[in-house]
Amino acid sequence: MKSYRIGIAFFYHESHSFSPMKTEIEQFRNEGYFIGDEIYDAYTGTKTEVGGFLDVLRQEEDVEIVPLLCAAAIPSGVVSTEAYTIIEEQMLQSIREAGRLDGLLLALHGAMVVEHLFDPEEHLLGKIRGLIGPDVPIATTLDMHANLSEKMIDYTPLHFGFKTYPHVDMYEQGVHAAAALLKQLKEGVKYYASFEKLPMMPPSINMRTAEGPMHKMIEWAKQAEQEEGICNVSVFGGFPYSDIPMVGASVLVIALDSQKGEETARKMASLFWNVREEFIMDLPDVREGLNLAMSIADDKPVVLADISDNPLSCGSGDTTELLREMVRINIPNSLFGGLYDPESIEVCRQAGAGNKVSLALGGKISPEFGEPVCVEATVVALSDGVFHNSGPFNQHLRVDLKGAAHIRVGEMDVLLIGRPMSANDPEMFRHIGLEPSTKRILGLKAKNHFRAAFEPIVGRIIYVDAPGVASNRLTTFTYRYIPTPIWPLDDIDYKVKQRRKEKWKQ
Ligand SMILES: [Zn+2]
Repeated sequence: MKSYRIGIAFFYHESHSFSPMKTEIEQFRNEGYFIGDEIYDAYTGTKTEVGGFLDVLRQEEDVEIVPLLCAAAIPSGVVSTEAYTIIEEQMLQSIREAGRLDGLLLALHGAMVVEHLFDPEEHLLGKIRGLIGPDVPIATTLDMHANLSEKMIDYTPLHFGFKTYPHVDMYEQGVHAAAALLKQLKEGVKYYASFEKLPMMPPSINMRTAEGPMHKMIEWAKQAEQEEGICNVSVFGGFPYSDIPMVGASVLVIALDSQKGEETARKMASLFWNVREEFIMDLPDVREGLNLAMSIADDKPVVLADISDNPLSCGSGDTTELLREMVRINIPNSLFGGLYDPESIEVCRQAGAGNKVSLALGGKISPEFGEPVCVEATVVALSDGVFHNSGPFNQHLRVDLKGAAHIRVGEMDVLLIGRPMSANDPEMFRHIGLEPSTKRILGLKAKNHFRAAFEPIVGRIIYVDAPGVASNRLTTFTYRYIPTPIWPLDDIDYKVKQRRKEKWKQ
């Protein structure tokens, strides 16, 4: 028998407390639900956290990989109690059946909310600790948008947050988590965690790491990691659409030297607080955005990003305000997509390619953000909606849109898709014969992740402020459970204080 048996698991959801779409078990089963050996087929060779775990562990001759359970669903409304319970029970069952485990690698998100649980990741870690005991090392990866709670640190100091947004370093963080876990197991390295939670929930619109305040934070984090005794610095922006007591930004430092770790965490928290105003952006409304787009002369497409309905920020993907304006103006050589509308796809399917159809586009899930847009259209092409990402974000991962239809409305092309999905990879369009790089204007249901694959082929990117659940204006939501005061809803005076206790040893 090999010396070390290391379990790997993945449970991933980003939950929007104000979304009308509850997340049920079907969403997990449709997106990614893999048990035991199925995990190898799904994630080997992918640039995901689990892909990173696998690559590191496979290089170790004395390690036996124990694949447990992977369950992931696209961001949406809160996870139903039933769905969470099924997955948690299956996860715990797989651990019980695994026999002896010497370590566990867990890819989590950190901003999941369940109907009856504000902090399900903490709940899950607690249950897992209860099963495997206090001494088996656990390392997790977390999204940059994790609403991390202090309790998570009680279970393990080893949490590795993404350092990029768009998140193109999931794989690297998987590698780091696995490497740290092995060091603990094989060399007996002791890690200390220092955690600072900030009273702020910055909007994510200006949280990209290529420029702006998060760029600065990540650069500072990387500098700190060069210092002796510091292993890893994670900067979590938080996810402001989760209406929970542990919402918001935080900093986590993993160190070999606890004193140094505490100092670094405090310093990073102060820096984070000081750049907070830079996260605030004023955006043009739909008409202003379109006027601006049409005034730009460029041989590359101008992107209008419908950020408030970005499915990866829990948008339903079917709001209509930007679509309605684009249809009204009828801009030649423009493309809108992907609009979530399985009913219209079915109408197109019945009619067949080349035929005309009358459609009421979108506006079915979230009519409060705009009525359906009634159009006469021509069905150009139909597909099963399956493709593999070609860009750096979730590279090579299989995506299943549950059907797609390319329709022509006036001078415009529109892509209809069978489930909400951000337009984060050009393959979403190319798989059905649409080439986004040759368009004049692209109206995309996307926010920031799409930049990883689209920036090389597009020109100016304009974020528009259309109505939707992922609106940049947090004052449009009625919060009930977040701590107060909290910036930017409240104007507060805050200073990072000296810590009164050493946080975590392992
Ligand atoms: Zn994220």
